[in-house]
Amino acid sequence: MRRPHMERRSRRYTPRQFVSDYETEPPAEGLQQVNIPTHPLDQIADTVLHISEPVSVATKKPTNPPPVSRVRYDPNRPIGFRLSSALGVGHELVENLIKNHIGEDPQREGLRETPKRYLEALKFWTSGYNQNPADILKTFQDGAQGYDEMIFQGELDFFSLCEHHICPFFGHAYIAYIPDGRIVGLSKLARLVEIFARRLQCQERMTAQIADALMENLQPIGAAVVLKCRHLCMESRGVQKVGTITTTSTLKGCFKSEHETRAEFMSLVANASKE
Ligand SMILES: [Zn+2]
Repeated sequence: MRRPHMERRSRRYTPRQFVSDYETEPPAEGLQQVNIPTHPLDQIADTVLHISEPVSVATKKPTNPPPVSRVRYDPNRPIGFRLSSALGVGHELVENLIKNHIGEDPQREGLRETPKRYLEALKFWTSGYNQNPADILKTFQDGAQGYDEMIFQGELDFFSLCEHHICPFFGHAYIAYIPDGRIVGLSKLARLVEIFARRLQCQERMTAQIADALMENLQPIGAAVVLKCRHLCMESRGVQKVGTITTTSTLKGCFKSEHETRAEFMSLVANASKE
């Protein structure tokens, strides 16, 4: 029999994810099982939902002592951050890396908490995957009537991770669009950059993704994006040229087809870079 609180959960998450007999039912073959004493079920359940098919989550009635979440997972399938940190999987991996690849003692005082800290940082650095540009690019028409001049935002700072070395690259974004009846709050452009920066990225793709998201969500007459970045993978290793700036640009609509519009944008970028 399902307990009443399990029924309530089951409406939000498909029943398949929940095990009715929390106490006795053994996990299906090939699945591993852990009990997580303090981890709230909701936090891991939505992660589980998106990641691994043969996974179940169950919780004891949330009374005193605190609820216990039990997670069954397939160790051969990738699992997300929240789940893997709840299971301590990521923790082991980082410890292993420190010990076997770097040759350091992961138990030494300065390193003992490093796996935990590193995973927390990595979770933040890649938090853009959980965000959808459409959610922040809610447009409004009030104030946009008849405005068909360029809207420009320059020198938006960002930090990202290069997907080839998982090493930081960072710099400035310059964004412009010419509205066709829809505008967006200026702070949203900075947030749009964040969404794509907080992922494993390459600069070229990130430039195109920002421009595509603008075209898709604002349907402007045109959009343009320039990124100027320093890549630490290049500066600290490889060619070891410090301070090299890599510039990429994506031009859409009138920015691509009209020489004057493009020139105006490029001069705004140049001026913004000098400040
Ligand atoms: Zn790199």
